[in-house]
Amino acid sequence: MKQRKVLLGCALSLSLITALASAPSTVMAQGDEYAVECTAEEDIKVELEESVYVAEAEAETGAETESVAEESVKDAVEEDAAGETEVEESEEESETESESEAETGEESGKRMLDVIYVGGEAASDENTGAAAETPVATLAEALNWVNEGGTIVLTGDVDGSEITKSVTLQSQGGVITSSSVYVSSAYIVVTNGVFANGVAFSGNGSNSVTFSGAMDGNYNSISGFATVTIDASVLRTSNPNSPDIFLSCSNLNLNGGSVISGAFSTGSLCCSGQNQIINLGNIFMDSLSVDGELIVTISGKFGDDMEAGITVLTVANGISADTLANITLNSLNSRNGLFILKLDGNSLVTAAHNHTLVLVDEVKPTCTEDGIAAYYTCSDCGVMYNDAEGNYPIGMTIPIEKLGHEWADTLSYDETGHWYGCNHGCDEKMSFEEHTLNERGVCKCGYEVFAVLEGKAETYTVGSEEGLRFRFAGSVEDFKALYVDGNLVDPADYKVESGSVIITLSKDFLKKLSIGDHTLTVEHTYGKTEVGFKVAEVKPGTGASENKSETGKKEESKKLDTAKTGDTVNLIMLLSMTVFFGLTALVAGVEFLRKRR
Ligand SMILES: [Zn+2]
Ligand SMILES: [Zn+2]
Ligand SMILES: [Zn+2]
Repeated sequence: MKQRKVLLGCALSLSLITALASAPSTVMAQGDEYAVECTAEEDIKVELEESVYVAEAEAETGAETESVAEESVKDAVEEDAAGETEVEESEEESETESESEAETGEESGKRMLDVIYVGGEAASDENTGAAAETPVATLAEALNWVNEGGTIVLTGDVDGSEITKSVTLQSQGGVITSSSVYVSSAYIVVTNGVFANGVAFSGNGSNSVTFSGAMDGNYNSISGFATVTIDASVLRTSNPNSPDIFLSCSNLNLNGGSVISGAFSTGSLCCSGQNQIINLGNIFMDSLSVDGELIVTISGKFGDDMEAGITVLTVANGISADTLANITLNSLNSRNGLFILKLDGNSLVTAAHNHTLVLVDEVKPTCTEDGIAAYYTCSDCGVMYNDAEGNYPIGMTIPIEKLGHEWADTLSYDETGHWYGCNHGCDEKMSFEEHTLNERGVCKCGYEVFAVLEGKAETYTVGSEEGLRFRFAGSVEDFKALYVDGNLVDPADYKVESGSVIITLSKDFLKKLSIGDHTLTVEHTYGKTEVGFKVAEVKPGTGASENKSETGKKEESKKLDTAKTGDTVNLIMLLSMTVFFGLTALVAGVEFLRKRR
């Protein structure tokens, strides 16, 4: 499959491209054989970074930092790796030269360099090219003395020549002036400002070129390379009358921050990061993958007479929904929703569009999480706006800063301890600690041992089968004794249970008390706690059912007090209904009897 790709790359000559673009169906037939591969450029990128690094380091020091011996070893390794035999001659030559230089210390001796400077007419091929002050004159001479993977720095204008080694081209004020440059080495890296306007840059059909930070973009055409990688570069021509670049290759990689202006044809186009295509002609490819955002601008075709249905690019293998989602149409018109990109068969075409904007509600920030400001989005195309009219597009949602906790001034507490709560109502507890009780069993937070939690106004109705239940803060270990109206109560007359401290007076004990108010006193480790309760008699004339309903109500309030289990509420409902229907029946019965009389 790889081989087929290379063959395709070879075949994509300039004349063929035009034919393909006008009759895409011929390629579409074999399209599915070309899967998208976006990894080919990793190695070259690494090499590029290394060589640029070397160039910078040497430019700073202005001198060679590596010893001749080290360099020779490195050369040998690199030659082996590249597997090239063509260069061995000069390699040997350089070793001889190096040795003789090392032995004799001759200044004029030439040797192989990782970075070589070339200066054009003002320079001389007699120079070593080792420093910017001593550049060689011609590109051919620079190529003779640069190592594979090295860097050629242009300090003056030079004529082009066939690039026979894999190198990085850099400009320090100089350019290659030729209108065509052919590359026969495995790869080449081109940085900013290397070519004069309008170069035809071509490869041998199987090699690759990487444009790195080449923002000048003075290219008429780029062709004959198997792989073209565009890394933070602009590829276009500077001719205002014909700003189209013509580009063809088997694999085209846009690595982010890049712009291609013009027509191109490629086997596969792989985009990562944010890139832009300014469409001025036919754009054709076998496959397309977009990881990140590809912005498509149809420069020159936009305006008042803009029409829907313009073909922006054609992908033989079709465009997936995922890929389409990563492509946006960049123009003032699309901003107002007049046009979007739509799929039409295997082509991306412009389509008339009116946004349907719907409000997306604000997500309120919490103490620890950012919120999201309300915005409007088109329910059809998903574009987001700050306003309902769609005048202010936003690329992403706008966060609302999280609130942060706002701690209360006063302590909150429960039976386990006390803390400062958050005024925003979150569950966070600051400075939680267990209670510290004074001799009266009171903590600084307000918590009090044996404070009455439930049963502050209990009433026992004579005849009821249920005793009276009280609940106090604290633990049963601190309970000592129980008094009613100042008299010690026999432990047989009450029950003490934990949770926190539940005390239940028995009905038999209560029965013996007089009708009226009474005082319950709990003696505990920290002193005494009092709570009042009542004993009431059955109201005369109400009968047994009345008494029963009283008991029912008592049950109910007790359930409320203990409100800890999930089904309490259901029980209350049931009890309330029983009480209600009981009373209704009673009233109806009385009414019926009265009428009969
Ligand atoms: Zn829309
Ligand atoms: Zn909070
Ligand atoms: Zn406390």
